[in-house]
Amino acid sequence: MKKNVFISKHPLVLQKMAVLRDKRTSTADFRRVMGEISMLLAHDVLANAKVKACRVRTPLATCRAMKLSHDIIFVAILRAGLGMLDGLLKVCPEARLAHVGIYRDEKTLKPVKYYVRLPDKIKNSLVVLVDPMLATGGSASEAVEILKARGAKNILFMGLIGARAGVRNLASAHPDVPIYMGAVDKKLNGDGYIVPGLGDAGDRMFGTD
Ligand code: URA
Repeated sequence: MKKNVFISKHPLVLQKMAVLRDKRTSTADFRRVMGEISMLLAHDVLANAKVKACRVRTPLATCRAMKLSHDIIFVAILRAGLGMLDGLLKVCPEARLAHVGIYRDEKTLKPVKYYVRLPDKIKNSLVVLVDPMLATGGSASEAVEILKARGAKNILFMGLIGARAGVRNLASAHPDVPIYMGAVDKKLNGDGYIVPGLGDAGDRMFGTD
């Protein structure tokens, strides 16, 4: 794997990934666990966010402390990326949210953009693009292009499961974008699903399967 790709080895991520992959997991548990893994991955993803010194009065004294000074934007690739926002907002409620709608053409498997809603000024923001499944890498690369075209200079990608080829494609297309994953699987099947993966993340999360 390329050097800007980080795959979590955290025991809680490993254990929760087993729950997500299990086809017997209910929709409610799938949603909850997706949120929990997102919270755990956020720990690494936001490790380089900027902070600034402040003073806080405790019940006993005044002390020096730190507060986030980076404008953070979570950008969900619709629709499955929505499932990661809950967990991310739990650990970083001050973040702004944005959405990029991209679907894969079922025949060509190429990304097709249908919706983009981003804040105006994103040049100095820490922009975290989220999509649980990094299959071919096409949608994620397209979304990064859109963010860069709007001026974003500091973009990170966060996903739950990637296919090796998809992770490689995104890393090669955008070597300046660090990629944080919960797991990386070997292959894609003919329909573009990650194998073993977890199936269709959107369907499992919204109960539409
Ligand atoms: N999207 C999904 O939801 N699952 C896959 O395996 C690939 C893309």
